[in-house]
Formats: sequence, structure tokens, C-alpha cells
Amino acid sequence: MADTFYVTTPIYYVNAVPHLGTFYTTTVADALARYHRARGHETYFLTGTDEHGQKIERIAREQNQSPKDYCDGIVAKFKDVWKQAGISFDRFIRTTDPDHRASVEAMWLRMQAKGDIYKADYDGMYCVGCEGWKTEEEVVEEGGVKVCPVHKRPVERVREENYFFKLSAYADKLLALYEQPGFIRPESRKNEVTEFVRSGLKDLSISRATVKWGIPVPNDPGHVIYVWLDALTNYVSALGGPDQVLGNPRSQALWGAHAPHREGHPALPRRVLAGLSAVGRAAAAEGRLLSRLYYRQRAKNFEIDPRYARGSQRDCRCARRGSAPLLRPA
Ligand SMILES: [Zn+2]
Repeated sequence: MADTFYVTTPIYYVNAVPHLGTFYTTTVADALARYHRARGHETYFLTGTDEHGQKIERIAREQNQSPKDYCDGIVAKFKDVWKQAGISFDRFIRTTDPDHRASVEAMWLRMQAKGDIYKADYDGMYCVGCEGWKTEEEVVEEGGVKVCPVHKRPVERVREENYFFKLSAYADKLLALYEQPGFIRPESRKNEVTEFVRSGLKDLSISRATVKWGIPVPNDPGHVIYVWLDALTNYVSALGGPDQVLGNPRSQALWGAHAPHREGHPALPRRVLAGLSAVGRAAAAEGRLLSRLYYRQRAKNFEIDPRYARGSQRDCRCARRGSAPLLRPA
């Protein structure tokens, strides 16, 4: 088979319109895809949107819209910007797409069949801003109230029955993978990642009983699948789902050639692990530098105006010099 290259951006959460960070990440991925196509490689470039979760449910309610209508509105803005900028993606995936839903259900059933999922009572803290669980060590006290250090908003106490993923059972498998040459790039991130896993992995809550906007758990529709697990599966969904990635030669080759987006997220080991449940090669701790911008709060204060997104490369340079015609205050 010819050389293959599969590049993905993060799928963007639809609580915001495209901003400087999303634009930057997508432009970098576009340049990589164009380079590999020009070299004659079989190339697949995926971007899209992450649309489920409690935060979206709330925003839509505040705007008197259904969650799907709200998402449709934001997605139209993303597509408009990418069209104007000439972004050459092969697919724009949405986590509300029917084939993605089928792929997430298939992944869930696989994990369940392997004995990696169990049900238990959960009592913990949740930040809706992060759509994430927080431990005692992760929250900070402000005026006697426990708040998320990122969002500066009180975390919510959640007591409900949840499904859990047996993350703790995978520490040794992960550590063995990290020892493979080139598995973690750059090498300088290896200690950090390894130490995180060595310090102990807790099982992960992977469903919500009080949230409705999501993909229902197969055979238990009173629960929806946790938004991060749902979103992470998109890289498999775009190749046809887990069965195709395991059995179809083209999907297999592309999965093996996956160049994950440069994201550098602190939850990396968990996300890598969830990827492992599918098959094969997992993400690498590549280049926090490249998309550091994405996580700078300041970048989110600017949205991209589609009228100015044309000629993206040139305008990006302008943006770095601070004379950006493509930016306007959000
Ligand atoms: Zn938060």
C-alpha cells in the first residue's frame, strides 16, 4: 500500500464560534495535508465539531433553542470560515452524525464485552465548563467555595449511578507502550507521561444519568455516554468505526498512520488509553508548543470573521504581527 497519512484537528466544542486558536490549528493541519497529497501519499484530513454535553444543553436552553438547532447554527459558522479559508478537509465530522453515533455504540459494546465497564455509585465534583470531573487536589477554595481553577466557577456536587471504565487495569500496558522507541514524541515528554501513569490511575466515570444531550448508553437509555469518550471516538468513526479499523485494509493503514493533532492536553494518558481500546497505535505527546495558542484564554477573545479568512496563510502572518485584519473582538 502507498504511503498513508491521516491528520486530525481536535473536534471543536460548539460553545464558541471559530476563534484564533481553532483557525491556527486547522491551518497547520491543512498545510500538512496539502504537503502529503503533493507527495502522492494517500491522505485523509479530518476536522469537525464536538456537540454533546451538559454545557451545550444549558447554553441552548438559555437561548430558547433545542440543542441540535443551537449546534446547527454554530456549525454553519465553522463551515463558512473553513470554506472561505480554503481548508482542504476530507470530512467535517459532527458528533451528532448518525454514523458517529453507531461507531460510539460499537466502541461501548466492545469495551463492555471485554469486561472494562462496570456500574457503580458516583459521588464527586464536576465542572460544567471543563465538562470534566475534579478531584479534591484539583479544585481550589475561594471564599469557602470549591471552584474550578480554570473556570473560577463553583464545581457541582454530583451523586448518581454511573458507568465506569477500568482505567486502573491498564497502567502496565500503557507503561510497556511508552517504552517503545518513538512512541512518545517528543522524547522530553516521556517522564511526565510515565510518572502520571505510575502515580496511579483511577477508574473513569464514562456516563451521566442527569444529562440528556448525548448518545444514550446501549441497552440503558437512562444514561448518556460521557462527552469526552463520545468525542474521542470521532477519529475512529471517520474511518468507518472500530470494525473497519480492525478489518478494512484502507482504514487500518490510515489508523496506523494517524498523526494526532498537536494539542498537548493535560488529560493525555486517559485519551491515549481510550484510543487503545480501539486498536493499534496511540497518540503521541507531540508538540505542546505548536498549539499552545489554542489554550491561551486570550485567543478565545477573538473570533474569526469569515469575510477576512480568505488567503489564510498571509492573514495568519499578519495576525502574529498584531495587525490582524481577520480578527475582531468576540
Ligand atoms: Zn472548569
